[in-house]
Amino acid sequence: MSDTARSTVTFEGRFAREFAEMAIPWRAEEAPDPQLLVLNEPLAVDLGLDPEFLRSPEGLLLLIGNAVPADATPVAQAYAGHQFGWYAPRLGDGRALLLGEIAHSDGQLRDIHLKGSGRTPFARNGDGLAVVGPMLREYIVSEGMHALGIPSTRSLAVVATGRPVQRETVQPGAVLTRVASSHVRVGSFQYARATGDVGLLRRLADYAISRHHPAAAEAGNRYLALLEAVIAAQASLVAQWMLVGFVHGVMNTDNMTISGETIDYGPCAFMDAFDPAASYSSIDEGGRYAYRNQPLVAEWNLARLAETLLPLLHGDQDKAVELAVEALGEFRPQYSAAWFAGMKAKLGLREETDDDVASPLVDELLALLQAGRVDYTSFLRNLAKAARGQREPARGMVPDMAAFDAWAERWRALDPDADAMDGLNPIYIPRNHLVEEALAAATAGDLTPLGRLLEAVSNPFEERPGLERYAAAGPEDFAAYRTFCGT
Ligand code: AMP
Ligand code: MG
Repeated sequence: MSDTARSTVTFEGRFAREFAEMAIPWRAEEAPDPQLLVLNEPLAVDLGLDPEFLRSPEGLLLLIGNAVPADATPVAQAYAGHQFGWYAPRLGDGRALLLGEIAHSDGQLRDIHLKGSGRTPFARNGDGLAVVGPMLREYIVSEGMHALGIPSTRSLAVVATGRPVQRETVQPGAVLTRVASSHVRVGSFQYARATGDVGLLRRLADYAISRHHPAAAEAGNRYLALLEAVIAAQASLVAQWMLVGFVHGVMNTDNMTISGETIDYGPCAFMDAFDPAASYSSIDEGGRYAYRNQPLVAEWNLARLAETLLPLLHGDQDKAVELAVEALGEFRPQYSAAWFAGMKAKLGLREETDDDVASPLVDELLALLQAGRVDYTSFLRNLAKAARGQREPARGMVPDMAAFDAWAERWRALDPDADAMDGLNPIYIPRNHLVEEALAAATAGDLTPLGRLLEAVSNPFEERPGLERYAAAGPEDFAAYRTFCGT
């Protein structure tokens, strides 16, 4: 049975075939003792994969790239990137492989990708490996983001390899099987442009158009339309991050997709207390990727993308720059409009509510939350109760109760829609203390807390009995929470 199931998996190998200049055929390192830690069954089914087969010994070998169909061409993808503002011409998949693309039930292709599958020619000084904690972290947070309705790469499985890996301490090794609309990044375009081969650049742009932004193909200037589409997708994405209090933590250009999906969950975190300066990554000492900077960084990254596209935008490079600048000028208004509409909706305000009335309410509330170091997620959730007349849960969270009362008076007068609020303000997010608890237990061999947390964050808007501790703010000492890169 497993043979037939396996033979039904067909990897397209489209990127490998069409971009030989950017794809090094490679094989995953053999795992001594693969053990499944978590499998995303609904996602497997959407991908036409039989969960029962994936759980079998042979299925595990497929999930970690140790046994792939004979006609598959796993590759390490080449890309460049600006890391913390510094350009690195050759990053690439140092510990990752693209197994190939397969069809999703929605009719679109998905990349099946491995993280932690061993050293590749791009590994530099790295060991090519990944460990259980960070891979499960990506699984939890990416699935939580998806459940929140935020575009994201998905996680199909995490398999422990049985290989001990040296980090600060010795940790159990693992491979994450990641699913993405594609792994074409801003850094992929930087790499293609740097080769000086405009034909390659054009092919990459055409590939991105066909996989992610097909409407651009109809435009008079399809490459300008591609740039505009990526700008729009990222403006919308970053607005959604901001609305849920998500801090990506490492918004290097190699970690920004052309599809508009969130990618690379390394040092990311959801903020507890509302704080525009929130920054968790231990390597982001200057706070370059702090919460409030994310829209600015996205715009900066998109400018790097625009630079790579100049040869395709217009024959006259001055004209090309003009077009690029004009397109980039759309980012701020699009981001602001998306963020403000989202904030208005989170407060239950109706579309017809005048923006001149809504805008100061939004600003004043955020200032109140910031001043009081109020837990952002649970406050907004409690605010729906206030819309129903039960003011205390939200009010009790704000130290300056008089200020809250004055604010709430004006807000209630606008007749906020409590049910709409409950559909937009999550009750369960991957809170830092819960993620750490689940990872520590899983690393020690107990997968129960992981399962419970996944159950909570996979259905983030629906309050369920028994999950109270998953809705509560983290302990105070988590305010100084640090995250570490997923290496
Ligand atoms: P990231 O910060 O995870 O986006 O990774 C940045 C770059 O470092 C990419 O080129 C990765 O492939 C590479 N990298 C990260 N960790 C390792 C590792 N343990 N071994 C080899 N390469 C790595
Ligand atoms: Mg990366």
